[in-house]
This record gives sequence, C-alpha cells and structure tokens, in this order.
Amino acid sequence: MAEVLDVAVVGGGPTGLLLACELALAGVRVQVLERRAEPVRESRALTLHPRSLEVLALRGMEARFLERGRPLPTGHFAMLDTRLDFSVLDTRFPYTLFIPQAVTEALLEARARELGVAVLRGHTVEALRQDEEGVALEGTSDAGAFRRRARFVVGADGARSAVRQLAGIPFPGTEVTRTAVLGDVVLGAPPTQPALGIVNPHGGVMVVPMAPGVHRIVINDPLREGVPLREPVTLDELRESCARIAGTDFGMKDPRWLSRFGNETRLADRYRDGRVLLAGDAAHMHFPAGGQGLNVGLQDAMNLGWKLAAVVKAGAPDALLDSYTRERRPVGDALIRNTLAQTALMGATQETLALRAMMSELLRAPKLNREFADAISALDVGYGALDVPEPQVDTPLLPGWSGRRLVDLELRQDDGTDVPLYSALHPGRWLLLGLREQPDTPPRWEPGWPSNVMHLRARAPAGREELQGVGGMLVRPDGHVGWAWAA
Ligand SMILES: Cc1cc2nc3c(=O)[nH]c(=O)nc-3n(C[C@H](O)[C@H](O)[C@H](O)COP(=O)(O)OP(=O)(O)OC[C@H]3O[C@@H](n4cnc5c(N)ncnc54)[C@H](O)[C@@H]3O)c2cc1C
Repeated sequence: MAEVLDVAVVGGGPTGLLLACELALAGVRVQVLERRAEPVRESRALTLHPRSLEVLALRGMEARFLERGRPLPTGHFAMLDTRLDFSVLDTRFPYTLFIPQAVTEALLEARARELGVAVLRGHTVEALRQDEEGVALEGTSDAGAFRRRARFVVGADGARSAVRQLAGIPFPGTEVTRTAVLGDVVLGAPPTQPALGIVNPHGGVMVVPMAPGVHRIVINDPLREGVPLREPVTLDELRESCARIAGTDFGMKDPRWLSRFGNETRLADRYRDGRVLLAGDAAHMHFPAGGQGLNVGLQDAMNLGWKLAAVVKAGAPDALLDSYTRERRPVGDALIRNTLAQTALMGATQETLALRAMMSELLRAPKLNREFADAISALDVGYGALDVPEPQVDTPLLPGWSGRRLVDLELRQDDGTDVPLYSALHPGRWLLLGLREQPDTPPRWEPGWPSNVMHLRARAPAGREELQGVGGMLVRPDGHVGWAWAA
C-alpha cells in the first residue's frame, strides 16, 4: 500500500510554498504537487507589504527577502495622488518591499526544500475524491499517471483551482468586464519619481522600477478596456496608450514580459470542505489593485499552517480547522470589496476624476490615511477567540485581546537580555508569555492541546500602554493573541 501523506499541497506558488514550510516546520509529512515543470520567470506581483514581512519575520525568514528587495515607505489606494504613508505604521517593517514574485517564490521554495519538503514539479492534479479518513488524488506527470493519498489536501492552485472545482466549492462572483495591460520594459527616459501614478481623462498609467534597468508599466486605457484577455499585447499598443495618457512613452523598448489582465472577481463560499481546504488565489480572485493578492495568500498560509499541523500532529480539535474559514474568509471578502472600490476609482470619467480628487484630499487627513494604510498593509487584520476551550487562569481573562495581532515587542528577560517576541516564535509553536514581575501559576488548559507550548517570562517594553495590566498571554504560532489575562 502506498504511503499516506499527512498533507498534499496542490500548487507551488507563493501560498502553497509558504504553507508547506509551515507544515514541515511542525514535522508534518507534506508534498507539494506543482503543474509547472520549471519555476515561472515572469512576476505578476511586485510587492510584499508590512504584514507579510511580519509573517516572514515570525519564522526568521525576513532577512533573505529584505536583501533582495527595495523598500518604499508608502503604498497606494487606486493610484490616488495622496499615497498611503506606511512610515507611521506600528511595525518593524513600515514600508512596501518591492520584490518580484519570481524572487519571492524562489526564496520560499529554497526554504521549503531546506525543511525537507518534496516539491514535485510537472505534477498536474486532475481528480480528487475524499472519504472519512483522507483524500485520494490522481493526476499526470512526465513519468505518466500518479496517485497520492493524504489525510488532508490544500488547494493552493490559483484562481482556476482544480481542487476547488473537484471539491465542488462554489466560487461566485462576476466575469471580466474590463481589462488592462502591463509591460516589463527598459525605459530610455524613466520618470524621476520612485513610483509614478497618473490618472487623467485619457486613462491611467503607473510606472515602478522592478529590477535593475527594468520598469513595470501598468496601463488602464478606457479606449482598450474592452479588449479580451486572449488578445496578445504588443509593445506598440503599450507605447500608444502610454503616450496618449502620460504624454510620453518613456522611451520604452526591449519588453521582457507583456500581459493583459482583467477584473474577474470571485470569493469561495467556504475555505474548507471536509478534508479539503483552499488558500490564496484558489479562494479569492480580483483585479490586482493595491498589490495585495500574493500578500493575502501568504497570510492565509500562515493562518492555516499551524492549525492544520495541530490537527494532524498534536490532537487539536477539528473545530480549529473551521476557524480557518471563519478567520480568513472575511479577510478575502474585505480584499474583494477594496479592490472593487479601487477599480471603480481607476476610471477616467469626469465624475470619477472628481471623486478621485475628493478622496485624495480626504487621504491627507492623517487618521484616514492611517486607516487605509493599515488596511492595505493588512496590519488591521484581527480575529476573535478560537472556538476551543479557554485556559483556566487565576486572574480574569481580558476581553478584547483574543485574536489581536501582536507587534514584534522587544521583551526584557530576567537576566537583562532583550528578546524580540517574533524570534521567540520562530519554532512555530504556542508561546506562554508571562509578563508579571514574579513567576506565577501557569495557566491550565484541556489536556492534549495546545501542546508543546514554549515559555518565556519577560517584561513588556516601556511605552506600550496597552500592555499595562496584562499578566500574561498565550500567543498563537501566527503571532496573534490566543488569550490574555489580568496581572
Ligand atoms: C498583473 C498582476 C499583478 C499583480 N501584482 C501583485 C502585487 O503587486 N502584489 C500582490 O500581492 N499580488 C499581486 N498580484 C496577485 C498575485 O500574483 C497572486 O495573488 C499570487 O500569485 C497568488 O499566489 P497563489 O500561490 O495563491 O497562486 P498562484 O501564484 O496562481 O500559484 C498557483 C500554482 O498552482 C499551480 N497549479 C495550478 N493548477 C494545478 C494543478 N491542477 N495541479 C498542480 N498544480 C497546479 C500553478 O502552476 C501555480 O504555480 C498580481 C496579479 C496580477 C495578474
């Protein structure tokens, strides 16, 4: 009888690769089945946002990405003139990191392989059947047909997800009504701004540097937004639209990649069906506005990884897996709504331009700018309490803390050394963080789970008013609070 995997991850894009890292870190037997024989060289995404960088830092991976990317202390909403100020965000990473998706994927794949994950390229999944104990997969590879059996399967296989379709999970939404184009090109006369956005009655043009000597140009041209996705993009098309809208084609030449993309928008009805789960683009699809899709996929993977590992390896209750849909689908829903709003704002009609001017003005108010920045950077994502028995502690549990994201606090230990909270979470396990002056009675929880909890006693840094009166907390492996209790 063939080996039964704990988890088969279908799709080796950024979401599937990070998920596989998380599972392997917890000792889960996991394989990634990826259709492409070779890594993809073109990069759809160019951005890693603050929460994604925090997610990587929670596992000690951030340095590899920081050294390959270029930070810009802003983000944008619908290419409005007033950019979002990321420099004021409460994070160790107050910027957008410009890094091509191909680099992100290569770094994640290297990490997955370091952790012992088999990333099987050239493996296309075509059939799926689940029963009480597991899921059977069938597909084809260069070597012929293959079969796999796993206790759980995750579809991280992108917007056209075969896993989602085979599991019968509905993906309601709207068809493409508008297309736009991009070109990764060499510019003879590049703009001086680090990120240029122009929207006027002729359309919209965005120009950002993507690699030494290469710029990404994205064009929303109202005269060509009805062109179907299948029609190839030419350099002349890009030049003409760009010159008409921006007044110059920036001397573009030597295209590395030209592509047309659209505004098809969909959200999976549920992220779990029995032993099948969805993550990343397989669960949400939208117009790529604000540079968010890959980021939300990484954050889905972080939320799902430790839960799935806990159920597979540590006897955690099955309800923990239901919390994945409960916590992440609202994030997908918010992503859909903000990209729809941005798509509307990227029109070039007189009315839209007036609305853009008004929105731009409003975004000058620091409070509003901060709210939008928190949303695009995903630092505003918080959850509620997990639907599992709460721990017994000798002081009251503090309401409003469960599910909150913790920043990377600099904690002072009894011996005077400082430890950043996130480095204490590198092993991907629960952390019991004692914040009282004196050692106290540890909390008790249901036998069996959470298991393998790490302990750290430390003092909170000065200036963190919100931690006054907190005696301790159980921190989830993804850096959100499980429960906090009074001092
Ligand atoms: C023009 C454009 C610009 C974008 N810019 C940004 C940006 O700046 N920032 C951002 O965050 N996001 C951006 N995105 C979105 C981002 O590219 C996606 O959200 C991201 O790739 C999703 O990652 P994923 O791993 O979920 O899915 P994918 O990257 O689609 O990976 C899915 C993988 O599954 C494999 N697969 C598919 N079917 C099967 C099968 N049956 N069997 C086995 N393997 C299979 C595929 O080969 C693929 O490798 C952009 C998208 C577009 C189109």
